[in-house]
Amino acid sequence: MTVQSNTQSFVLGPDKHGTRVVVEGPRARLLTDSQRPPAGATAIDCRDAAILSGKINAHTHIYSGLAPLGMPAPQPPPTNFVQILERVWWRLDRALNEDALRASAQLYIAQALLHGTTTLIDHHESPAFIAGSLDVLAEVCHEYGMRACLCYGATERNGGLDEARAGLAECRRFIDHGESELVRAAVGLHASFTVSDTTLDLAAELCAETQKIMHVHVAEDGADVRDAQARGYPGPLERLVQHKALPPGSIVAHGLFLGPQQVRNVDEAGCWIVQNPRSNHGNEVGYPQALAHSQRVALGTDGYPANMGEEADFLRVQAKKYGEPMSAVEARIEAAPMLAQEIFGARVGLPTVDRPTLADLRVVDHKGVRHVFVHGRHVVSNYELPVSLEAIRTRASAQAHALWQRMASLK
Ligand SMILES: [Zn+2]
Repeated sequence: MTVQSNTQSFVLGPDKHGTRVVVEGPRARLLTDSQRPPAGATAIDCRDAAILSGKINAHTHIYSGLAPLGMPAPQPPPTNFVQILERVWWRLDRALNEDALRASAQLYIAQALLHGTTTLIDHHESPAFIAGSLDVLAEVCHEYGMRACLCYGATERNGGLDEARAGLAECRRFIDHGESELVRAAVGLHASFTVSDTTLDLAAELCAETQKIMHVHVAEDGADVRDAQARGYPGPLERLVQHKALPPGSIVAHGLFLGPQQVRNVDEAGCWIVQNPRSNHGNEVGYPQALAHSQRVALGTDGYPANMGEEADFLRVQAKKYGEPMSAVEARIEAAPMLAQEIFGARVGLPTVDRPTLADLRVVDHKGVRHVFVHGRHVVSNYELPVSLEAIRTRASAQAHALWQRMASLK
């Protein structure tokens, strides 16, 4: 699929620091004092504002976008992590159909852009609507202008090996036919504890054959560790490694129950760990205390709204409480551009004089996110999307209501 980046060029600034940036097609470059902006470029007023790079959410679930719209509390209330999955998220994902998923994606992505988040690294599951599900997410990304890396998280937890094969087939289909400059594909597994060795091997083969990274939950809870040990492995990380299911660049979500040496091993393998502080706190699974042993750790929201500033603030409070070195925490908050660069094959972040970047930028002032550019498209202008957020919310509410009813009727 080809994506039209905006052929219009823009000149942003000078901002309050005197910075000027030119956006031409999908690229951004810094404009020095002696350089003239390109003829015909649209001027974007950045007085009293700062030109910054777009935020990156390194692990999330767009499919949970309707959850904030009054999802009923699970009954009986869950008392551990696996029960939270069984009674909340694994019911929500089973009840998703195409319309609910589209509404969820529209709401989640619209709000993400308004927060200045320009890239989502997503992990998707919708067991009753697997084939074609990644196209729905990609279509909304293209429509609204969100950069994304998408995968289907294959699992056997509902339908055994057939379900896992269908999940991997969806990854394969999307790798072959769904990618664009804006949206890239990965191979996904839900987690070690919901797949057999057969599925692990199939996923590893798919990574090798397509040269794609894996995106998988690892050691989010002790249950994942106990499961891998019961299968004869030291833990889920070692199980994935032994099955060659973690090629360099892969994304390990959580890594909460990994020790210092295991975290170093992930780093040395060239893989990423993504910490999700609000989610970990909400699920009461604890705090990942060994992550300072890797440079390749980024921040995700795990389905919480893609407000990366809020996630970072939450992390700072948690890190202080658990005595993590703040230098490692601040580096982690800023690490995601390197991850995005690996996935999208181009420099991400603010451009410098001699180094252009992907034109994923935000202009921020005292009121909030004034402008957002993604791949050179002006997707948020004067704090607003070109589409009505109210209309998106109305559609999402109707879909959410029907979704709660389907969830309640599931066995
Ligand atoms: Zn997750």
